[in-house]
Amino acid sequence: MTDFDGTFLARGAHGYEAARLGAVWNERKPDRHPDALLLAASDRDVQEGVRWAAARGLRVSVRSGGHSWIGNGVRDGGLLIDLSALDEVTVDAPNRRATVRPAVQGTRLNALLGAEGLVFPSGHCPSVGVGGFLLGGGYGWNSRRLGPACFSVEAVDAVLADGTLVHATDETHPDLMWAVRGSGPGFFAVVTRFHLRVHPAYTQLLRSAYVFSSELRDEVLAWTHDTVPGISASLELSAKVGFTPGQERQVTTVTAAAFCTPDEGPAMLEPLEKAPFLHHALRRVERAPSTLDDLYALSDGLTPKGRRYAVDGVWTDAPADQVLDAGREVLDGLPGRDSFLLWMLWGGQPTRENACWSTQARLYFSPNAVWDDPADDLRHESWAHETLRALDPLAHGTQFADANPADRPARGLEPEQAARLERLRRRYDPEGRFRTYLSPAESTTALAAQRRARADA
Ligand SMILES: Cc1cc2nc3c(=O)[nH]c(=O)nc-3n(C[C@H](O)[C@H](O)[C@H](O)COP(=O)(O)OP(=O)(O)OC[C@H]3O[C@@H](n4cnc5c(N)ncnc54)[C@H](O)[C@@H]3O)c2cc1C
Repeated sequence: MTDFDGTFLARGAHGYEAARLGAVWNERKPDRHPDALLLAASDRDVQEGVRWAAARGLRVSVRSGGHSWIGNGVRDGGLLIDLSALDEVTVDAPNRRATVRPAVQGTRLNALLGAEGLVFPSGHCPSVGVGGFLLGGGYGWNSRRLGPACFSVEAVDAVLADGTLVHATDETHPDLMWAVRGSGPGFFAVVTRFHLRVHPAYTQLLRSAYVFSSELRDEVLAWTHDTVPGISASLELSAKVGFTPGQERQVTTVTAAAFCTPDEGPAMLEPLEKAPFLHHALRRVERAPSTLDDLYALSDGLTPKGRRYAVDGVWTDAPADQVLDAGREVLDGLPGRDSFLLWMLWGGQPTRENACWSTQARLYFSPNAVWDDPADDLRHESWAHETLRALDPLAHGTQFADANPADRPARGLEPEQAARLERLRRRYDPEGRFRTYLSPAESTTALAAQRRARADA
């Protein structure tokens, strides 16, 4: 047996099941069982783990922060390399650079950067790991201004399919770097360090939020949709359709975060403050001075750990009235008090030659089902994935951040980028050592069980 620095757990070993379940943040765990887990403690472990699997003809999957909603790293058979212990950060403030290991969480990175007047567009939820977040594109706080976070990856240290560790830059490994920036769970190596460009912090953060009754829902959503092209890229605008805490009453909440200087904030928020329906707000918070920690806490409150989640989403450039018509069943059919529809006003951003990140649109329409009782899985999963299919005619793919290719296949890359990625995979990983996107045959959800039962009937 290879001598690892970390812990190797074969299936059946004491600690295996706790580690398997712990590899998935979502309380809804997949019923998939790797042959073994390696809790890596070093780069050498990752190299030896890949070689150990190769010597036995086994496939390799990866876990960093464990926030894949579908537990992408936990697959049947093969070796799961768990990188959750690799969580060091170093900041080089004068050069605006940071090096982060894959399990680092956005809150920690930004706490260190904030002390130096710097910031990184980390995920909205405080505990998302940078590993999967960066590979999947990375839609973080102020990403409309700073770009999807993968654009700030300048280099990586990565273990390739033959176990070699490379330091890859755009000069030394342009294809690998192109794939790092946006291939999500389709990446064909294991990143052990991300070398990031970080950004000067804004000097002020103002937050406004308005709550509207359900009668105004369509008007409010359509207005935000139509307004987003004209607002500052440093204003992050989103809407949420959900229930009022403590009441069975559906509301629409519009939230705006202005990442600005003290001079800029009021002008950035002005278009929202002039919205024709604003005087109907049931509750409002206006221009509240905030911190990134405040935003993380609000986001964490929507999706706390320990609950069951089914999340999905579609990008669309369709006019608001068409999205509202097609999405009516999703909007009207929230499966429970804690579930919500996220109406994320992205606005569309330029793509880049050195990044495979390519699928996006003006609006991201994303059902988030949240519940506790496993007996309710099918109802919630059906809402998140099946009801959403009504938007297929208007859809322009999905985000890898939320994609569930097993229960609702949808593209996360444009066809040209997807084809190039597969060509690179054959070159970098000719034996298919690394797992790629989860397939319908691997799904263990109640929805997949229903699909199989229907196919058999
Ligand atoms: C509560 C919550 C909030 C979220 N909010 C946001 C958000 O605001 N913005 C956003 O963009 N996304 C968000 N996400 C989605 C999140 O970014 C993705 O699920 C991402 O994959 C999580 O990264 P992870 O390392 O924690 O996940 P993991 O489950 O550890 O990894 C997912 C997959 O990514 C690949 N991967 C991860 N690390 C590596 C590595 N080092 N080398 C090679 N492959 C790797 C593997 O295929 C792995 O199976 C959120 C998710 C949750 C649960």
